[in-house]
Amino acid sequence: MYSEKRKITIGHLYPDLLNLYGDRGNIACMMQRCKWRGIEAETIEFNTGDEIDFSKLDIVLLGGGSDREQAIVCRKLLEIQKQFKEYVEDNGVVLAVCGGYQLLGKYYKTDAGMIEGLNLVDIYTEQEEGRLIDNIVLQSELVEMPVVGFENHGGRTYINDNKPFGKVLYGSGNDGNSGYEGVVYKNVIGTYLHGPLLPKNPQLCDWIIARALERKYGSAELAPLDDFKENQANAYIVKRFIKE
Ligand code: GLN
Repeated sequence: MYSEKRKITIGHLYPDLLNLYGDRGNIACMMQRCKWRGIEAETIEFNTGDEIDFSKLDIVLLGGGSDREQAIVCRKLLEIQKQFKEYVEDNGVVLAVCGGYQLLGKYYKTDAGMIEGLNLVDIYTEQEEGRLIDNIVLQSELVEMPVVGFENHGGRTYINDNKPFGKVLYGSGNDGNSGYEGVVYKNVIGTYLHGPLLPKNPQLCDWIIARALERKYGSAELAPLDDFKENQANAYIVKRFIKE
């Protein structure tokens, strides 16, 4: 077992604006799963206007937001683009959900205008007719269990040659046509899955924690937890939408 004290610091970016569908639950899940294992976990919330020191962060969470909120956040994010990019290229761990996912890319084109993105991953998003709203089930290479969640987006995201987060088993995904959902670039996951995502998908939560530990301590060792209830909840959703 890992003997020395380990600590993970999570940066929650702009919860004052990017906070749809209980994305904050992702933070609670990461904190709890660290604590259950004796790993110290701390979350720092950065609201618009706060200084962000990426060198102190092990995991960054960007939640979902409406187009209007995204436009405001984007202006703030562009001020820290360089530091954020360095963090990503240095294998910093990022979970970006929906509006946050769209902001990772080059741009998000909406009927109301163009929102410039962070350009951290080579993807782009365009608003199209109709919203893609439903439960969603994926198979992702990152975890064994199917990934379940909920999607609600007007933007369609195109990921070029990047790896998708998962293959869509039920739902729409990135653009409703490709059959894929989200993106994985280095230790960055971008996804449309709200819900929140991590309590419903404990293996994914552990993947994120493991990448952060690996980067910081050189070892991703994680004690197993009893996930009986979490796995039952996940299986219930899978069964509801995937007919064998
Ligand atoms: N505003 C974006 C869209 O509709 C993202 C919405 C969200 O975060 N749910 O595509």
